[in-house]
Amino acid sequence: MATTSSEKGNSGDPAATAPIPMFEILTQYQPLRAEIEQAVRQVLDATEYIGGAALKRFEENLGRYTHAHAVAVSSGTDAILAALMALGIGRGDDVVTTPFTFFATAGCIARAGAKPVFVDIDPDTFLVNMAAVEAAIIPSTRGILPVHLFGQMCDMGRLMEIARPRGLAVIEDAAQSIGARDPAGRQGAEAGTAACLSFYPTKNLGAAGDAGAVLTRDAELAKRIAQTRQHGETTRYHHAFVGGNFRLDGIQCAVLDVKLKHVDKWNTRRRRIAEIYNLRFAGSDVRPPVVEPGAYHVYHQYVVRAPRRDALRDHLINRGIGCAIYYPLPLHLQECFSYLGYKQGQLPIAEQACREVLALPVFPELTDAQVNRVADGVLEFYRG
Ligand SMILES: *Cc1c(COP(=O)(O)O)cnc(C)c1O
Repeated sequence: MATTSSEKGNSGDPAATAPIPMFEILTQYQPLRAEIEQAVRQVLDATEYIGGAALKRFEENLGRYTHAHAVAVSSGTDAILAALMALGIGRGDDVVTTPFTFFATAGCIARAGAKPVFVDIDPDTFLVNMAAVEAAIIPSTRGILPVHLFGQMCDMGRLMEIARPRGLAVIEDAAQSIGARDPAGRQGAEAGTAACLSFYPTKNLGAAGDAGAVLTRDAELAKRIAQTRQHGETTRYHHAFVGGNFRLDGIQCAVLDVKLKHVDKWNTRRRRIAEIYNLRFAGSDVRPPVVEPGAYHVYHQYVVRAPRRDALRDHLINRGIGCAIYYPLPLHLQECFSYLGYKQGQLPIAEQACREVLALPVFPELTDAQVNRVADGVLEFYRG
């Protein structure tokens, strides 16, 4: 099989010129179709639409995979909200987080009634800057919400050195990082108080709709999160506190349970694709992602820093190559957070990242030939 750049001139092969999407899911679904359909049919036949055997099985298997108690919930967003609510974080509390992330991270802090406190990021890894986190802590700080962005975990050892002596809760946004390890080999919820997963269809483990989970090694907290998922109910129709409806449907649990077995294999393939890109981009104008020594990056996104980013994006799109900007506007400058009073220029590293980053296709079903065509497109742009 030809897998090199020489293939691009091969007009006889339709695969050599076909558009390359940013994400495509049918290729992953097809080999699993029979197993997924059977699992879904079982839920339908048992009429266990909510709760039931599929939920129990998925939570057990996810718990085994993550070495934690797993509470399945309705989305990654609801996982973060439920974790904050279960920990009693709300009005009067500050939660320190990153402005360079998907909106839900900070949206949930605000919805819980607490105040998001944004600090700048590390220019190499795009992860929250630990010294800035430490400097932002004041008496009203109740928690830290680090984001394991693009599939790379924050250094949880360093973070816990900050959080533990101050008694702060650490809620990890692990929506993009199932299967990842930090530089000391820790996984999500191993060091932190709780870790929140998203199973949005494009995530490294994707449901057939919205889904998420909260992980924790604290059995009492797991119980409270499960109660939070069910309106704070302790026994039927008795509510110890106010929660929400954060339940996950049995059908989604059935789909996820089938796909969970493949996550490690898919992550390995994502890492291989990143390796191909890294080799192709070495010595070029684009800067490949920086990985902390010892960390196990699972490349939910492969994000480069690119000079003339917007022109590169147009160039790729014109050639039928998918790409995307994660994220174009940092959260401290979002209109909905104007009440917090942040100014342009206040968190300059995050703001600069928003101007320079470009994500390239990295889903596991990409062929080496497709990956090389993406790299060709990028390198060709800088050759002029
Ligand atoms: C996807 C994502 C979420 C939210 O997950 P949903 O399942 O879409 O609600 C939260 N944080 C980050 C960093 C994400 O990427």
